[in-house]
Amino acid sequence: MLDCAIIGGGPAGLTAGLYATRGGLQNVTMFEMGMPGGQITQSSEIENYPGFFEHDKTGMDFMDTWQKQCFNFGLKHEMKKVENIAKTGDHFTVTLEGGESVEAMTVIVCTGSTPKRAGFKGEDEFFGKGVSTCATCDGFFYKNKPVTVLGGGDTALEEAYYLSNIASDVYVVHRREEFRAAPPTLDRVKRKENIHLVTNSVIEEAVGDAMGLTGVDIKNNDGTITHMDNPGLFVFVGHDVNNSVLKDENGEFICKMNDWGQVIVDLSMKTSVPGLFAAGDMRIEAPKQVVSAAGDGSIAALQVISYIQEQQ
Ligand code: FAD
Ligand code: NAP
Repeated sequence: MLDCAIIGGGPAGLTAGLYATRGGLQNVTMFEMGMPGGQITQSSEIENYPGFFEHDKTGMDFMDTWQKQCFNFGLKHEMKKVENIAKTGDHFTVTLEGGESVEAMTVIVCTGSTPKRAGFKGEDEFFGKGVSTCATCDGFFYKNKPVTVLGGGDTALEEAYYLSNIASDVYVVHRREEFRAAPPTLDRVKRKENIHLVTNSVIEEAVGDAMGLTGVDIKNNDGTITHMDNPGLFVFVGHDVNNSVLKDENGEFICKMNDWGQVIVDLSMKTSVPGLFAAGDMRIEAPKQVVSAAGDGSIAALQVISYIQEQQ
């Protein structure tokens, strides 16, 4: 029986592995279906990680040392996809792809979430070169420059507000007249002078050159196309939370979730099921940053150690 099964090997999972093994747990396995490192390995640069300001290192370079450090302290990695987790009496059964299963006293789920893509022309081509899904990470590059935000939900409007304190102007492009975001959020955005709402419109194309994005073609529902020379384009059209491992055979979640499929945890990263913890981008209120995912992982692992001591 494992002391702890960690599901997902991004910043949250790796940090949980470091703290669990350094904290004395002997038998900890991290199940990561790919190479460890998580979604930040797709990024060409790291922003907002304290003490780290070299821009010549990719996300892949940055995460490489994390796994080496964990493995030095005894964390084991199985490159397997987890299908689901079930509580069986006082422990958990972790079922892997192919049907094999593993027993664990505790589980920390760190499977992250994936920002959705909108599907316009040029989105993939310029992703990371002007097209972004993270204002906190990339907003700073557009200081005093105009940017476009796509989406009409709470995330789009909250991030538009954040960007309005950095960028010269923020053009929020939304496909309908009515906004999905909460009315107070919309009111706050409307009061901000440098935020401009462009409704009944979509991004027709992200336009650029070899250096990256240079602007956007915005198509109104009446068919007219307007070009804007905005070098930053932030896409906020929802997230897919990677929560399928928490579903039972009937498709019901085994722990409490909010309406958007995020795991409800307390400040100790405890879920509603004793012994089951969740950390990183998949939890409620996650700031979706490497530093906070890592912080969550450390908290969850320290709680796992206390939980196991209490059970003995
Ligand atoms: P993730 O990093 O998403 O890791 C989850 C892991 O779980 C993945 O490796 C996945 O393969 C694995 N997994 C999922 N399901 C299963 C399963 N069923 N079985 C086994 N394994 C599974 N943040 C910053 O702070 N600064 C930045 O500059 C920055 N730039 C970014 C740039 C890009 C392009 C992207 C996409 C994100 C960026 N972020 C940045 C956000 C940051 O990457 C995330 O907040 C952080 O990685 C979240 O960590 P996590 O461990 O919660 O999840
Ligand atoms: P969301 O509510 O699903 O909104 C996504 C937005 O993107 C919608 O306005 C949608 O338009 C638009 N959209 C979707 N696909 C598109 C496409 N292909 N092209 C153009 N536009 C597209 O997502 P979210 O804003 O990330 O929020 C997710 C959940 O978290 C929501 O329930 C939200 O309330 C919640 N949340 C809450 C807070 C908070 O309480 N402070 C903060 C952030 C998020 P339509 O409206 O036309 O569908």
